[in-house]
Amino acid sequence: MPLTHLQIKELLDENRFHDCNGVGKDKICVRIAAIAELPSRFGKFQVVAFWNNRDGKEHAAFVHGDVTGFSDVPVRLHSECLTGDAIGSLRCDCRDQLETALSTIGKMENGILLYLRQEGRGIGFLNKIRAYGLQDHGLDTVEANLALGFRDDERDYSVAAHMLHSLKVKSVRLMTNNPKKIGGLESIGVKVSGRIPLIMPPNQYNRFYLETKMEKSGHLLDTLGMERLAEQIDRPVREGMSPEQAEVIQD
Ligand SMILES: [Zn+2]
Ligand SMILES: [Zn+2]
Repeated sequence: MPLTHLQIKELLDENRFHDCNGVGKDKICVRIAAIAELPSRFGKFQVVAFWNNRDGKEHAAFVHGDVTGFSDVPVRLHSECLTGDAIGSLRCDCRDQLETALSTIGKMENGILLYLRQEGRGIGFLNKIRAYGLQDHGLDTVEANLALGFRDDERDYSVAAHMLHSLKVKSVRLMTNNPKKIGGLESIGVKVSGRIPLIMPPNQYNRFYLETKMEKSGHLLDTLGMERLAEQIDRPVREGMSPEQAEVIQD
């Protein structure tokens, strides 16, 4: 059962004037501003629109099934990538990651995809495109990565933690291939009861690799043979990858 009209009304009423001490070092605080049905090609979802009342950013939770008051809810964190998610850019594999996560959750009893508005690891769209431009003009991946900036993990977790708290999720099974990331959420009060590996089907994943041997050595190439910048917090593993290979593609 998804959120009922009554539950939606209660959540909206509670959140209308919500203001708390905030989560993490940036004291992030978000409010649920609106909730609506969202049937999608990946299954039935409800979309929960959040407003960050510190910096005005809008975040989204895509909720499948019953999650409010529930434990062990599957949760995937996805950072916004306009070029990948919306346009299907092949400079990254964000869209495949997003689709894999949504279709996985859509087939489960319940689950949440938190869509975090932190384009380009939180440095914003402009700076991400600047980094792309630098790479086009010969900067190597390491330099471009520096230009792209490093993700502020804590900020990411703070928004996610508050969103889960607002949705009254008691504990989560984090959809991640990087066990190190679990500690980040737990350190700010989210109970992580388990981990679900995110596995991408081989065909979809193959599109992004020129050769299997490159993939196995951990070099992630785009269709032009350039090494891609990692834009998401953790990478899905390809079906059939060994644990060692899966580890290599994580940061
Ligand atoms: Zn708050
Ligand atoms: Zn991307």
